[in-house]
Amino acid sequence: LASRLQGFGTTVFAEMSALAVATGAINLGQGFPDEPGPHEVLDVARAAIGTAHDQYPPGPGQPDLRAAIAEHQQRFRGLAYDPADEVLVTAGATEALTAALLGLLEPGDEVVLFEPMYDSYAAAVAMAGGVLRPVPLRPPPASSGEVATGRWTFDEAELRAAVTPRARLLLLNTPHNPTGKVFTRAELAVLAEVADAADLLVLTDEVYEHLVFAGAEHVSIATLPGMRERTLVVSSGGKTFNTTGWKTGWVCGPAALVSAVRTAKQYLTFVNGGPFQPAIAAGLRLPDTYFAGVAAELQRRRDLLVAGLADAGLPVVSPEATYFATVDVRPRRPDGDGIAFCRSLPGRAGVVAVPTVVFYSPEHAELGRHLVRFAFCKRDEVLAEAAQRLRRLA
Ligand code: PMP
Ligand code: GLN
Repeated sequence: LASRLQGFGTTVFAEMSALAVATGAINLGQGFPDEPGPHEVLDVARAAIGTAHDQYPPGPGQPDLRAAIAEHQQRFRGLAYDPADEVLVTAGATEALTAALLGLLEPGDEVVLFEPMYDSYAAAVAMAGGVLRPVPLRPPPASSGEVATGRWTFDEAELRAAVTPRARLLLLNTPHNPTGKVFTRAELAVLAEVADAADLLVLTDEVYEHLVFAGAEHVSIATLPGMRERTLVVSSGGKTFNTTGWKTGWVCGPAALVSAVRTAKQYLTFVNGGPFQPAIAAGLRLPDTYFAGVAAELQRRRDLLVAGLADAGLPVVSPEATYFATVDVRPRRPDGDGIAFCRSLPGRAGVVAVPTVVFYSPEHAELGRHLVRFAFCKRDEVLAEAAQRLRRLA
């Protein structure tokens, strides 16, 4: 293995999913839905197979999908992007993020980001020769048997201290995996000020943009004054349309930045799955009621799972968004070892979860040692059964 990829072995998602299969436990580890997406989307993909959509689409993505992405950004964020050169279709958000880092970073450039962080970020920064400057997010207080409703926060001084003269890019994820945090407008204003003062590019991963619950509002940092010009906004159809296996994502931003991403993307995948593109375009044009319905349904599922976790005696923070809830395992595992807790959970309760420590850099791993993430993007009956099983821990 090349030195730049030392330490990036098999992802924990693979280990935990294999554990779920081997033990027959309910898999609340890897976040993927267990129901099909809307028929308006699925039907278009089926109909596209066996047509010209089976051949290479245009490099930047099918023009109609690029138009639909731009319309969606205008409708939900009030942001105007030119589908001709400010929108690029990618192999999921993952490729958009990696291609952006490969296309924009010089070796040694520093990337400021919050942790815990989604697992592909550290590897993608390493592949691009960049250096991580992680800033910790800290959970709100939570006690045993209770559902905490506070918010994860960061320390502004720690953020500012992470921005050195080598800083080139701020990598933001809101709504945030694994914490379920939605960055507020006030927090984004601080980030925007820091990015402007240090002349940083901003790469914002917004794949959970539509999975936001009552009381929280998703704001894209690109909508803050002056920020559109230094920001690349990344999203994907996977979460919004229950099609995580389709790997159809996109990036929007000023033409010069999108062009850099496109240069890298051309030699990573060239283009992506043709028949999915008209289908995701149809999804992005669904009425507002569809998007609101996705969030409302998921919110009900969040409440089912967090109730079970609280009854199990695990302090749990009710997430503001995403597929995920985080618990502190210490009341049920006094040594606070989240990895050991996850390895024993299938035997103790017939459920699989993911230890949050894998979302931290070695530097801050201690902060996440006792935390564990559970996914609730599952059918009601699956969640009800999982909640019932988890109560065995009590
Ligand atoms: N970013 C975050 C924060 C995610 O949780 C995910 C989904 N696992 C991705 C990116 C990847 O998205 P995609 O499947 O579209 O590549
Ligand atoms: N985003 C999903 C999660 O965090 C899937 C991750 C993956 O399989 N790499 O669980």
